[in-house]
Amino acid sequence: MSIKLENVSYQYRDSKRRPALSHVSLEIKKGEFIGIAGHTGSGKSTLIQHFNGLIQPTKGTVLFDGKNIHEQGYSLKELRGKVGLSFQYPEHQLFEVSVFEDVCFGPKNLGLPRDEIEKRAKEALDLVGMDEKYHEKSPFELSGGQKRRVAIAGILAMEPEYFILDEPTAGLDPVGRDRILQLLKKLHEEKGITIILVTHSMEEIADYVDRILVMDQGRLRFDDAPSEVFKHKAELEQMGLSVPFYSFLVDELVQRGYFGKNAEVSAITLQQAKDVILKNWKRNQKL
Ligand code: ADP
Ligand code: MG
Repeated sequence: MSIKLENVSYQYRDSKRRPALSHVSLEIKKGEFIGIAGHTGSGKSTLIQHFNGLIQPTKGTVLFDGKNIHEQGYSLKELRGKVGLSFQYPEHQLFEVSVFEDVCFGPKNLGLPRDEIEKRAKEALDLVGMDEKYHEKSPFELSGGQKRRVAIAGILAMEPEYFILDEPTAGLDPVGRDRILQLLKKLHEEKGITIILVTHSMEEIADYVDRILVMDQGRLRFDDAPSEVFKHKAELEQMGLSVPFYSFLVDELVQRGYFGKNAEVSAITLQQAKDVILKNWKRNQKL
């Protein structure tokens, strides 16, 4: 089970510029936690809108569980129930009179009975940590981080199998940001939801994701585990992306032969860097 793109290119109709996407092939399997990184304008938002059929490729094919989603007779509505997409600044689309009704909007559109709609809305609000005292408030009374969590709950209430989020931490303070990332981790681990997270900061997601896809000028430049992607420091910098500090530090120590010849060590977080350094330092002491 997967979302698969085969040689996808996309040109905005009114644009005279280079295609927004060029020859992108990738596969996201059910159950993964994926990060999509890239500088502004690299094609991230255009790419993810192909995953639930909001945009149809100019060339190439999008497959969901092996089926071409743009083939005649394929139900895009059903697909969008399975592949939820949260746009950047999703709170701009909150509009109902109460938090609760806003979260009901998605499941209502799926045509579910009222008691099922309410059950799902309650569960979703619970998951994002918005307890009952907020349910009857206007979304406009909430803080920025709370609004965003309500917007996310609105998609969760549709019970998607895949959840795509376009820069869900943009504009939040560090506390709000960590809350969102922890929430996504929980959705992945406890609910088994496939998470596809767009960011312009690889550092932020490095410790969460199984794989990072790096976009640059409409092309998919890397598709690998974070520690592998971070080995390409110079190329990433040319794309306007920076490698997490502790990856850089440990890599620099490797380059300088600190861990011996052909050492295969890497780190992303401070804790990992500490472990790697102490472990190898002890070994060197014995020699
Ligand atoms: P990102 O999300 O990585 O910032 P986008 O997918 O938004 O990148 O943009 C990729 C390219 O497509 C950019 O050159 C951008 O200017 C262009 N683009 C994005 N949206 C539109 C649009 N609606 N019409 C025309 N060009 C667009
Ligand atoms: Mg974008």
